[in-house]
Amino acid sequence: MSDNRVWSYSATLMGSPILLKLFANNEALAARVFGLIKRYEDLLTVNRAHSQVMDINHAAGQHPVAVSRPVYELIKCAKAASMVQDSAFNLAIGPLVKLWRIGFKGDRVPPADEITARLRITHPQDVVLNDTDGSVFLTQPGMEIDLGAIAKGFIADRVRDYLHQQDVRDGLINLGGNVQTLGTPQGSWSIGLKKPFSSSDALVGSIDVVNKSVVTSGTYERYFEQDGKRWHHILDPRSGYPLDNELDSVTIISRDSLDGDIWTTLIFGLGVEKGCALLKQREDIEAIFVTKNRDIILSSQRQFRFTPCDDSYRITDCTA
Ligand code: FAD
Ligand code: MG
Repeated sequence: MSDNRVWSYSATLMGSPILLKLFANNEALAARVFGLIKRYEDLLTVNRAHSQVMDINHAAGQHPVAVSRPVYELIKCAKAASMVQDSAFNLAIGPLVKLWRIGFKGDRVPPADEITARLRITHPQDVVLNDTDGSVFLTQPGMEIDLGAIAKGFIADRVRDYLHQQDVRDGLINLGGNVQTLGTPQGSWSIGLKKPFSSSDALVGSIDVVNKSVVTSGTYERYFEQDGKRWHHILDPRSGYPLDNELDSVTIISRDSLDGDIWTTLIFGLGVEKGCALLKQREDIEAIFVTKNRDIILSSQRQFRFTPCDDSYRITDCTA
């Protein structure tokens, strides 16, 4: 690295703005990174008729489908996160995501009886895995796997690994909410934390990290308004409605973006108090909560530094 000049490359993939930052002008490498993301999108998407995940979904209630190793391992990991007691994360949430259509054309509050009917085909234990042949079987007709809450994290980690293989020491990939960083330009990477529901790119602060992933899930990312209420895209697998608590967003700082993606959903489901209690048992996972009441609550700050930049928010920590 000769100097600290940053080159930025952008693309739109997975319905999201993708940003790659490098410390050298290397269009060819950027194209290979975007190609890698595109290949994973093609395997994992549920927004098109065909992908390996859609092959599993199309065969629901009929037969198991063998998939490639990375897809199998990701589904296995998503199932494990879904089976944690009281987990808000559910890989089998697909039928409800498709019913609400939040972030897509035709979103609206579905009739209560349709939500109840779909809840019956969202049980993670009905996703049956076979380690021997790498196959996945959805035992109930109509079941659908949706990896929207975990796939970007998985892909961000694959980009990091690829850049390491290419001897890139310093860089950053942002998959629209999932940021994975490499190296330590000028001491650390500084990641902006968005101000919820602000019309511009306003921030509530910045997060400084070294070799960490920063993942944010927010109710303001994808939502629609009906009957004077906002309906956002993180669904409560117990009720079938969007998770409704004190939170506007949760940010997780961790080594792997896969963990960050899983934990944002888990912690969103727990809320601040239970979330803080759980984080005390996990030194490797850190969080920043932003609440509707304009509180910013920080976990231990061993792995990041937070610099606030909006006086209307009150800063506290998990011990408060
Ligand atoms: P997160 O909070 O990490 O996840 C929320 C998403 O996870 C929801 O949108 C839903 O898909 C799912 N979900 C909701 N509730 C739960 C729950 N309780 N447990 C588990 N999962 C839940 N968007 C487009 O507009 N067009 C596209 O063509 C498109 N293609 C995509 C292809 C891929 C491979 C991926 C990974 C995403 C794609 N997306 C696309 C975006 C996708 O629809 C989601 O909006 C996005 O993944 C949400 O990520 P997030 O980090 O904002 O939210
Ligand atoms: Mg997530």
